[in-house]
Amino acid sequence: MVGLLGLDADELAALLGAELPRYRARQLYHAIYRQRVADLEAITPLPLELRRKLAATYRVGLPEIERYYESADGTRRYLLRLEDQRTVEAVFMPGATHATLCISTQVGCPVGCRFCMTGALGLERNLTAGEIVGQVIVLMREHNLRPEEQRINLVMMGQGEPLLNLPNVLKATRLLADPEGVGLSLRRMTLSTVGIIPKIHELAQAEIRPKLAISLHATTDELRRRLVPVARKYPLGELLEACRHYPLRSWERLTFEYVLIRGVNDSDADARRLVKLIGQLRATVNLIPLNPGPGIPYEPPTADRVAAFQAIVQRSLPCFIRKSRGQDIYAACGQLRRMVLEEGNQACGAISTLANLSTNRTMPE
Ligand code: SAH
Ligand code: SF4
Repeated sequence: MVGLLGLDADELAALLGAELPRYRARQLYHAIYRQRVADLEAITPLPLELRRKLAATYRVGLPEIERYYESADGTRRYLLRLEDQRTVEAVFMPGATHATLCISTQVGCPVGCRFCMTGALGLERNLTAGEIVGQVIVLMREHNLRPEEQRINLVMMGQGEPLLNLPNVLKATRLLADPEGVGLSLRRMTLSTVGIIPKIHELAQAEIRPKLAISLHATTDELRRRLVPVARKYPLGELLEACRHYPLRSWERLTFEYVLIRGVNDSDADARRLVKLIGQLRATVNLIPLNPGPGIPYEPPTADRVAAFQAIVQRSLPCFIRKSRGQDIYAACGQLRRMVLEEGNQACGAISTLANLSTNRTMPE
């Protein structure tokens, strides 16, 4: 059966055929994206006969919640099952003033950053636009989120490198930002990339696009190549040149993410070099203390180093420390996919903790 999620209003109209009035397609669109209906037969504004006809061939195509893990800080990590039985992860983070949704754009990731668990897995496949939108709809439905009533931030910082799946990411963005549909605000959507320069240029051309965050992590080419192997193709000078020419909208700033790694990139000299590189840009810096994990050959920075680094950068640019949410359920940056890997590996030392989590805190089947 073919999933409808991922089709825009014109595509749905084309699918219904010329004999049906256009407002039927709008009703279908509204039911899928705004009302988050999971079952075509439940779209009551449509005539029964049409519903049955549609349901015989199509389905909405939302991913299924295989299970979720709940953190002591309220973060919830969802393991979502896709049509081909692969799974992908999405994270819900509640907040006093806003909720944040972190979604994936690929199953796995081909980039292979040395400090990232997702990267250790390699790429399984790109997600479709419908699968990207589907994660958001499932999270919004589960947590009863209404964009008209509360701030919802969306970050494409889960599994995958969004710019290596750009057409689907852009189509998903258009669907998510459509006020007639899901209705999220473009100003609260951010895509994070490791810095695929030609795709940054392509993104710049898109009329409807999320904000841009660049994962920088290093201030010399030598170190950056070591941490982010793909950086071999995209030297720092060229990456920053692309940032300087990036057409920021009036309300927009670039974000630079910098994973702080003990003794590797967390010195005062690193912080000063960082300021020299990006201090003139309209930008914000997010420091992310490394989340450790098995197979990651690095250590988190000390609290003192994090504070000292921030103090130096802050003199020139707004600089925040990203709190790692949901570390106890492996929902934090770079940890997604870890659970899936470890569950298949009975020899792993962490398995008993994980087993507790899965029995106590997951949703009943
Ligand atoms: N592929 C994209 C987006 C997903 S990763 C990118 O790399 O930007 C989202 C963020 O998590 C990136 O800034 C990445 O560097 C960071 N990250 C990856 N592994 C991490 C780890 N072990 N600890 C802290 N942050 C990590
Ligand atoms: Fe991929 Fe981002 Fe992880 Fe690097 S940090 S391996 S680009 S998900």
